[in-house]
Amino acid sequence: MELRSDSVTWGTIDIVYRYGFSRRKTFALRVHPDLTVTVKAPFGSSLSDIQGLVKRRAAWISRAWSDFAQYLPRQPQRRYISGETHRYMGKQYRLKVQQGDIDSVKCMRGYLWITTSHNPTPGKTKNLLEGWYRTHAKKIFQERLLVCGQKLTREIKNPPTLQIKKMVSRWGSLSRAGRITLNLELIKAPRECIDYVILHELCHFKVRHHGPKFWKLLQDLMPDFKERRKKLNFYAE
Ligand SMILES: [Zn+2]
Repeated sequence: MELRSDSVTWGTIDIVYRYGFSRRKTFALRVHPDLTVTVKAPFGSSLSDIQGLVKRRAAWISRAWSDFAQYLPRQPQRRYISGETHRYMGKQYRLKVQQGDIDSVKCMRGYLWITTSHNPTPGKTKNLLEGWYRTHAKKIFQERLLVCGQKLTREIKNPPTLQIKKMVSRWGSLSRAGRITLNLELIKAPRECIDYVILHELCHFKVRHHGPKFWKLLQDLMPDFKERRKKLNFYAE
């Protein structure tokens, strides 16, 4: 069966999937252990039938991703050794790992310099780098939250609190108590994408669910939000 690629948007994430047609009479949607999604559709179904199915099953797909992701190494392609490239705010940096007096991470001239006080191991390097990402994410996300919040001062009286977490399938979410949670991975994306995710969550203060009203509000406040969202998918690890 020949498979083609398509994607649908659900919340702040795009669900990329492959689909094909078969003689079967019902749809079969599967999430595979490598997190890819496939749909087998009966001959004669239209692309919008398939997209509708993926959208209806989106919450389930997201749960399946979280389940499978527990069994995957977090970043299988990452080795945390000198020469490897890592991203920060949309730019690529090369790792330089060395032993020195104290643990430190410095970002300069295209390099992320990681110094460890003991013999550097990939695990140690990873911890230091993640701590560095987290420190910078806290500062930058908070700044951007203030900037983006100025677009919605009438809707948002109290500035929302911010939480940063590692998440598998979402860039951000808003709790009923008004707390915004952002994915730590978002700090790897460019500022325009960070702003998109933050403004998206802020718009949920005014419109809870994704409907025409929600997308209209977002469009008015950020006319190029679709391009930003597309760009963001590139930074999903
Ligand atoms: Zn949303």
